[in-house]
Amino acid sequence: MPKDLAKFAKDNGVKYFMISYTDLFGGQRAKLVPAEAIADMTEDGAGFAGFATWLDLTPAHPDLMAVPDTDSVIQLPWKPEVAWVAATATMEGELVRQAPRNVLKNLIDEAAKEGLRVKTGVEPEFFLLSADGSKISDEYDTAEKPCYDQQAIMRRYDVIAEICDHMLALGWKPYQNDHEDANGQFEMNWEYDDVMATADKHSFFKFMVKSVAEKHGLRATFMPKPFKGLTGSGCHAHISVWDMDGKTNAFADKGAELGLSERGRHFLGGIMKHASALAAITNPTVNSYKRINAPRTSSGATWAPNTVTWTGNNRTHMVRVPGPGRFELRLPDGAANPYLLQAVIIAAGLDGVRSKADPGRRYDIDMYAEGHKVKGAPKLPLNLLDALREYDKDKTLKAMMGEEFSNAYMKLKHREWNSFVSHFSHWEHENTLDV
Ligand code: GLU
Ligand code: MG
Ligand code: MG
Repeated sequence: MPKDLAKFAKDNGVKYFMISYTDLFGGQRAKLVPAEAIADMTEDGAGFAGFATWLDLTPAHPDLMAVPDTDSVIQLPWKPEVAWVAATATMEGELVRQAPRNVLKNLIDEAAKEGLRVKTGVEPEFFLLSADGSKISDEYDTAEKPCYDQQAIMRRYDVIAEICDHMLALGWKPYQNDHEDANGQFEMNWEYDDVMATADKHSFFKFMVKSVAEKHGLRATFMPKPFKGLTGSGCHAHISVWDMDGKTNAFADKGAELGLSERGRHFLGGIMKHASALAAITNPTVNSYKRINAPRTSSGATWAPNTVTWTGNNRTHMVRVPGPGRFELRLPDGAANPYLLQAVIIAAGLDGVRSKADPGRRYDIDMYAEGHKVKGAPKLPLNLLDALREYDKDKTLKAMMGEEFSNAYMKLKHREWNSFVSHFSHWEHENTLDV
């Protein structure tokens, strides 16, 4: 990958660089810098006014300097004269510790100290809506059980194939696309990679899907539960841990239960132990809890978990072990910040490895139909406030994610919750007027 962005621009016909960082809400913020000016920016970074960064900085703070991480540069396949590059957030030469990409970098380094190299894949689901976001864009997409609907995916072929072509051109090795279980909902999959590479690709994917949809006069949303009665948008994470040379999967053990090694079990044990707290990160919005606590839809499932349970190849639990050497965390949703999502998985898993955590009993049952038989299975938080409180109580996880980050995140998210509860809803009038 290029170290010299000016040369990269010259070789590839790039006119502008989009120097981009991700804020605490998962939003991407950028400056568009002409290639002529990129050499200085690569040294010093692009400046952003602290208060507007959504990294919990005040108007009195010095500028945030976003320094391009040259390894991450991606030329926009739909606008090749522009290249996106993820940036490291710094201030007066120091790392801004609460910045999501820095939080992840720090945890990758922590895992490396234990000889662990994390590789992950993500499965972001999204809806294609009308341009104003009010309804599903395809008026014929009304089937009661639309999962894998051949006719419906072909009606959106132009959008899906354009995005998939871009992933092919970028060398991401995409391998399948489908119409998901809700009307208007799709999923596109590409190959797993080292955790930072996956987080960067995940960020870029969201940007790309939204951009291509807009080009076609549509609006793409990763909102966890945009419509009552339809399944929500998850963002499952497939996790494996490798030796530092990246060649031996440390989670794989053919002789072990479900092919998951002892280290894999401990990592999973950490995820189980911290699940309710890490939900504050993997399910970060008020709306997130409408996905995991929703009643079953017409297809008979929501495919989202609501208990802290694990199993083999069965999609009704929080964790599925679909085959040897990896597991799927089904909790995260489309609103998850690509960097914090991976960071919190490493934090919880690493604590599991260090404390030799046991994942507990495995339940090979249909949780939707028979979940009531499992006595004492911990429930996931019912709403964002519960999750924030769980996170606040979890001293280990908070410390591993970093004090600066945890304080900043809690502050902004509690503010979001307070704004939500101060909103008066139609439901209250309907149900309370005549008391
Ligand atoms: N849409 C489901 C969710 O909210 C997941 C469906 C699937 O298993 O791919 O997690
Ligand atoms: Mg899916
Ligand atoms: Mg999945």
